[in-house]
Amino acid sequence: MTIFSKIIAGEIPCYKIAENADFFAFLDINPLAKGHVLVVPKQEIDYIFDLDNETLREMMIFSKQVAKAIKKAIPCKRIGVAVLGLEVPHAHIHLIPITKESDLLFNKKRQKLTSDEFKVIATSISVHFE
Ligand code: 5GP
Repeated sequence: MTIFSKIIAGEIPCYKIAENADFFAFLDINPLAKGHVLVVPKQEIDYIFDLDNETLREMMIFSKQVAKAIKKAIPCKRIGVAVLGLEVPHAHIHLIPITKESDLLFNKKRQKLTSDEFKVIATSISVHFE
């Protein structure tokens, strides 16, 4: 079981944003920016491009819903989209509020947020999810 499957199952806590039958969204614990969200399929597949076409399509549509909610909650110019998968072998899309190119540099220092800050951010995004 991957760490993300444990999060989806509620065995490991997370700051949840939204879920539906097939996908789950939660805050990245080491965010590049406030409002950095991960979208994962409930199906445990390592590599995003091994997902079947329908699941990949639906994952992008779910990510669009989440991105719209992030945009309403976090001041930014765009929601950047990235797929790395170098650390956790469970397909996931990074959604990151950005105002300039360098906001999407994964080798930059991650933000340290308190539990209360994560909670406030998660709520502020999830209330806009529709
Ligand atoms: P990647 O696999 O895309 O290279 O990186 C995995 C991402 O997942 C990283 O940005 C990391 O901060 C995040 N991450 C790893 N473990 C956890 C976890 O247990 N909880 C949460 N919320 N995020 C995690």
